[in-house]
Amino acid sequence: MSDELKPCPFCGGTDLDWTAEQADAVTFFGQIHCNSCDTVVHSEECWRSDEDAEIDAKDKWNFRSTSSDDSRESKA
Ligand SMILES: [Zn+2]
Repeated sequence: MSDELKPCPFCGGTDLDWTAEQADAVTFFGQIHCNSCDTVVHSEECWRSDEDAEIDAKDKWNFRSTSSDDSRESKA
């Protein structure tokens, strides 16, 4: 499984931090922080393990990064 992070979808920066934070006693959420533009992306859901939380946050980050190019959401 690849856990590489794509460049920031907003500024293209690659100076990124990813962490898993404890949400409550038994769950974690992941977050990715761009040090260039201070964007923070959180994982969609809370997870029982910090590893899963990080993976979910990375997936979401990479999805944003790729989708910002071709199929931009056109919600007003
Ligand atoms: Zn950025």
